Amino acid sequence: MKTNTSSFEYNVFDYNELSDAQKELVDHARKATYRSYAPYSNFKVGAAILLSNGVIVDGANQENAAFSAGTCAERSACFYAGAEYPDAKFKAIAIAARDHTDDFIENPISPCGVCRQALLEYENKAGNPVEVLLIGRDKIYAVKSIRDLLPFAFSEF
Ligand SMILES: [Zn+2]
Repeated sequence: MKTNTSSFEYNVFDYNELSDAQKELVDHARKATYRSYAPYSNFKVGAAILLSNGVIVDGANQENAAFSAGTCAERSACFYAGAEYPDAKFKAIAIAARDHTDDFIENPISPCGVCRQALLEYENKAGNPVEVLLIGRDKIYAVKSIRDLLPFAFSEF
């Protein structure tokens, strides 16, 4: 038997330590939480994707009485960006959330497995790492690529 190890590094920032471009993306994601439609979970998620053309595309979770018809903030931004700007490459994504207290959640939020798989497709399409900013109330985790969040990803690439 042989044991392999898989790990990745990420940086932990205070908001003030971020670059101006990162701050702008974080601000977009936080604001996007206010455009969430989450009457069932009351968990309001916002996402913002920076594209290679400089455009930032926002998304927010959209729930539905038929739960599976709804979608996460990350995929709402991801698919809109892909449909509106098919030639632009994803550069970075920021994700934020507010809970039932209406305050931003304490610990940085992390995308669900389905969103990781969807985002990985766009990272592969871009041909460059897509930085992921996971936003908490006080701390922000900066992950260098989507692939870091999805070891052994299902992929044709
Ligand atoms: Zn998701």
